[in-house]
Amino acid sequence: MTTVAESGTTADEFRNDLRAWLDENDLSPGPDHSLPAHIEQMSRVRRALYDAGWMRYGWPEEVGGLGGSVIMRMIVAEEVLGRNIAEPGPYSMMEVLVPTMISYARPELAAEMVPRYLRGEEHWCQGFSEPGSGSDLASLSTKATRRADEWVINGQKVWTSFAQFSKRCVLLTRTGSPETPKHEGITAFFIDMDSPGITVRPLHTMHGVDEFCEVYFDDVVVPADRMLGTPGDGWRLANDLLPFERSTCFWQRISYLFTRLDRLITDETDAGDSELGAAYLALHTVRCRSASTQHRFADGAKLGPETSIDKVLLAGAEQRLYDTARDVLPGVLELDETPWRSEFLYSRSATIYGGTAEIQRNIIARRLLDLGKE
Ligand SMILES: Cc1cc2nc3c(=O)[nH]c(=O)nc-3n(C[C@H](O)[C@H](O)[C@H](O)COP(=O)(O)OP(=O)(O)OC[C@H]3O[C@@H](n4cnc5c(N)ncnc54)[C@H](O)[C@@H]3O)c2cc1C
Repeated sequence: MTTVAESGTTADEFRNDLRAWLDENDLSPGPDHSLPAHIEQMSRVRRALYDAGWMRYGWPEEVGGLGGSVIMRMIVAEEVLGRNIAEPGPYSMMEVLVPTMISYARPELAAEMVPRYLRGEEHWCQGFSEPGSGSDLASLSTKATRRADEWVINGQKVWTSFAQFSKRCVLLTRTGSPETPKHEGITAFFIDMDSPGITVRPLHTMHGVDEFCEVYFDDVVVPADRMLGTPGDGWRLANDLLPFERSTCFWQRISYLFTRLDRLITDETDAGDSELGAAYLALHTVRCRSASTQHRFADGAKLGPETSIDKVLLAGAEQRLYDTARDVLPGVLELDETPWRSEFLYSRSATIYGGTAEIQRNIIARRLLDLGKE
């Protein structure tokens, strides 16, 4: 039996108490399925869970948490997404950005900002990718120039998820001189998205949602105390953050995907068991892998390149599920206005976001299997 708090509470007891609370407190979303409505619902869910304590378990007390094992966060995420009361995309940002803030922000800044995020008072985004720097992130060129006690930022980010709803951004910039090796000249900031000089332009995706944005920076001034870490720490921060984006943040997504598999089983009439079985097997495999990653993390392991395995499995399972939906619901994706269509289209991005499938396989080959240098 897994104990998740110093009081001796077990994982099962925690889950049962949470379930009872969720049964009593109806957080079902309304009929509006637009992205702004999803974001609003996310805020509502986080606030209710925070005020009742649930959203605070598994986070350190210094940032408004109630302590305990990270397994508690995993249980909350699983129960929330398993009930479809929040969308997996916006929810996943928490497991990516909050640990980074705790590790890299000044303690006072983390103590001020993290509770606002956990309580759903604000959303944050991740400004890493640029038009010419995705897989080769270290080539990024958005420039931050020091000016007394502040930094001035110029450049452009792209594919910044939910930037139009975000109050802050974890931003990677270049601060080194042209002679500085590219990995050493990167510095991260925690910036306010309403700073003068920031322009956010949502991009319409093929699945019909303005999920991500172009973000432009024209002489944007950031106080020096908003730096995350020290000058030149940006690459280290990115390498600490990306393992979360490739593993722990997916636990709740897997939970959501299982609800879609259940739904598929209810919706379809003629599918062979083997097709649904293959989708189930792929989901079950990534769930097992993800559970083991979460437990390693809870036991104090530092996550690293091995999380590329989680990412490859997740992307494969997600696409397998929606390929199965396309096959066993003939014509539905093509002809009907159904969530299956937009979800099928969105699933194509699973082999891109958080680092493409090719890059993950490169990492597995080079860093885990020692199959030669890049
Ligand atoms: C839904 C979604 C949400 C996203 N959200 C964010 C966000 O919030 N913040 C953010 O910063 N970014 C975000 N991204 C961007 C994402 O991180 C990048 O798209 C990704 O890293 C790939 O970069 P790229 O698009 O520039 O493709 P490129 O790097 O240009 O790659 C193009 C193709 O070339 C292949 N390739 C490139 N280099 C190699 C190599 N060395 N070996 C083999 N193949 C290679 C790639 O695998 C890919 O198939 C998001 C992307 C998506 C799809």
